[in-house]
Amino acid sequence: MDFDYTSDLVLARPGNPGADAILGRPIHLLDDGFVRLVDYLGNDASIAQAARVSYGPGTKTVSEDEALIRYLIAHRHTSPGEMVELVFHLRLPLMVRDQLVRHRTANVNIRSYRYSPMDDGSYIPEPERIGGQSADNKQGTGSGLAPLDQARAAVILADVELYTHEAYQELVGLGVSRETARQATTVSRYTEMYFKLDLHNLFHFLLLRLDPHAQFEIREYARAIELIVERCFPIAYAAWGEFERDAVTFSATEIAALRAALDEFYMDPDRTLTSSFAGDLGLHGRQLREFRDKLVALR
Ligand SMILES: Cc1cc2nc3c(=O)[nH]c(=O)nc-3n(C[C@H](O)[C@H](O)[C@H](O)COP(=O)(O)OP(=O)(O)OC[C@H]3O[C@@H](n4cnc5c(N)ncnc54)[C@H](O)[C@@H]3O)c2cc1C
Repeated sequence: MDFDYTSDLVLARPGNPGADAILGRPIHLLDDGFVRLVDYLGNDASIAQAARVSYGPGTKTVSEDEALIRYLIAHRHTSPGEMVELVFHLRLPLMVRDQLVRHRTANVNIRSYRYSPMDDGSYIPEPERIGGQSADNKQGTGSGLAPLDQARAAVILADVELYTHEAYQELVGLGVSRETARQATTVSRYTEMYFKLDLHNLFHFLLLRLDPHAQFEIREYARAIELIVERCFPIAYAAWGEFERDAVTFSATEIAALRAALDEFYMDPDRTLTSSFAGDLGLHGRQLREFRDKLVALR
């Protein structure tokens, strides 16, 4: 058994100029956090190349990469998107790390405070970011905290950090082991981690964590990661925006309501959709047919 060096199935390692341009460069966020890209696998063309394995060489010329990637994302053919990956290095509060590690499809490596001393920094929100308990979302922040109360809350949070930092130092000074001394901390303490996801699951992560229902702090990390994804996989990113991030789904009950509301429109759907109306929406060819099918399904 040996390698066939005469075969013409030779591959150049796929580079990614967009990723190379930002590799290692941190995006700073919160008061002392960052996200930076530390490694990657593949580029947009790698997604199309992986997809073509399933369709075979006979279909190679059917689509350009962009059309193929848009088709894959629009039709939830997700596995080619799992063939490319990004690796991030993050500095983040422990409370945000706890939320990130719930994304089980990510590979993570977190800093051990049994081994390393605890980070010196803690996240203190800007006073104007401190809101009241939301009335309609038990997990969320609403508005309506008076500026004086916001300022007082920021002072309390800062005092607690000061106290726990001093307590930790004192425990370490007493000779207490790091694994026990770390109990003297809050969820605001900064930590660092590596976070690796394939693009399909990264898009899923972004949908969940860019959502206004996610906590402000993790949304900031998601926004930074989104910026990096846009640079690294611009074609897939645009397709994801079109078919997932900026798309909406309707419940069965909502569809019934829409059906009633659009009754007028359905008097003659064929005519409406072949008129300039459809063209004005920027829908042509397959996309126009699919849009028509959806409207027909609503009748
Ligand atoms: C606003 C918000 C509030 C949240 N609140 C809480 C909370 O209070 N407590 C809490 O624990 N979590 C909470 N979460 C985390 C949430 O429940 C999910 O664990 C997290 O968002 C990851 O989503 P996921 O499982 O879809 O992603 P991933 O873990 O990345 O998984 C991706 C997909 O893979 C599949 N998958 C992964 N693992 C399994 C599995 N073991 N079995 C079957 N399928 C699997 C699923 O289809 C899943 O959607 C919250 C998330 C959000 C966005």
